[in-house]
Amino acid sequence: MTDSGIHVSARVGAISPSPTMAVMAEAMRLKAAGEAVVDFSAGQPDFDTPSVAREAGIQAIESGYTRYTPNPGAPDLRAAVADCYRRDFDLDFGAANVLITSGGKHALTGLLLATCEEGDEVVIPTPFWPTFPEQVKITGASPVLARAGEEGWFRPTRAVIEPAVTDRTRCIILNIPGNPSGVMLSPGELEDVANLALEADAYLLWDDTYARLTFEPPPEGCYRRMQDILGHRFVVAGGASKTYAMTGWRLGWAIGPEKVIKGAASLQSQMTSNASSISQKAALAAVTADPAGFQWMTEEFARRMVRMRDGLLAIEGVRCGAPDGGFYLFPSFEAVLRPGEGSGELAAALLDQERVATVPGVAFGHDAHLRLSYATSDAVIDEGVGRIQRFFAAR
Ligand code: GLU
Repeated sequence: MTDSGIHVSARVGAISPSPTMAVMAEAMRLKAAGEAVVDFSAGQPDFDTPSVAREAGIQAIESGYTRYTPNPGAPDLRAAVADCYRRDFDLDFGAANVLITSGGKHALTGLLLATCEEGDEVVIPTPFWPTFPEQVKITGASPVLARAGEEGWFRPTRAVIEPAVTDRTRCIILNIPGNPSGVMLSPGELEDVANLALEADAYLLWDDTYARLTFEPPPEGCYRRMQDILGHRFVVAGGASKTYAMTGWRLGWAIGPEKVIKGAASLQSQMTSNASSISQKAALAAVTADPAGFQWMTEEFARRMVRMRDGLLAIEGVRCGAPDGGFYLFPSFEAVLRPGEGSGELAAALLDQERVATVPGVAFGHDAHLRLSYATSDAVIDEGVGRIQRFFAAR
């Protein structure tokens, strides 16, 4: 069967599929075919979902909690998520400010669709998670990239973002700590960005996916100060995936002023209805548990980060800032690339010759880099970094 004559919308044609998911799928395909692939592409914890959440999920199934919940989420979970933002970051939200979604991506889509118009602009600092610009395009708004530099390891400061702000800016996306840089901002820098959004009368959309995975606790009150500055313009997208090793459960949340949350909920009611009832019960157990019980995962990521970074820095010419949280490194191979070679060719050569899967930096807006996830075991890190060292030694 050929595709000729089959119509697909211009909308679909304008959107690129997720490159992170594509590399992960290719690594899985090669592994299934028996290839000894080292997979540094996957942006997900390698740990099992903690038992407190697993057991709550099983209990949900066994007790018949398997029907629709209210579309915006179970009331107890909405309240618990609001409480958990108060507990962790001193943020002032109530249950009505929370929409439970099918993952963080779904939360972002809901918030962007509920706030952006055709012709609006959404500012995205680089390097960016590849999903951001594509989601903005889905809304009919335009992504505008604000280019950060390697100095300060890609800090998305006001100085970086401000040149991209225009009178059409509807929203500034701030992914702190960021994927792929892992970089955090100081309280003063966060305030400066908040003031910029306020002056532009734009939303500040904080993607906090990695905010509970920082190697040092965030400075006290730093996010609350942003909320105080921004008021209703401060909106948040997050989820259970990374903090609680629950990527497959697809459970996230959008947080913001009631009017925006109601709008996003209305869209959700027509597209997916409620997030999985079982995942909601599991997430309720996770967000209400003592966060100290999950701290070991962050400590493990911090340790692995040093292990992988040291191995990469041992390759002559490689530069790599130290992230403040999350589980990615974003080294620069600028000094060792061949003429005309970009990150796509480099990642393809690494996969082809050494069976190491990485995500090309071009997908994040910086073509001399690769993104590597260290959410994997020491043995895999050592094997993969050893292969990368061998690859460059052979050049
Ligand atoms: N967020 C993770 C990543 O960046 C998972 C894949 C995706 O959703 O992009 O790798």
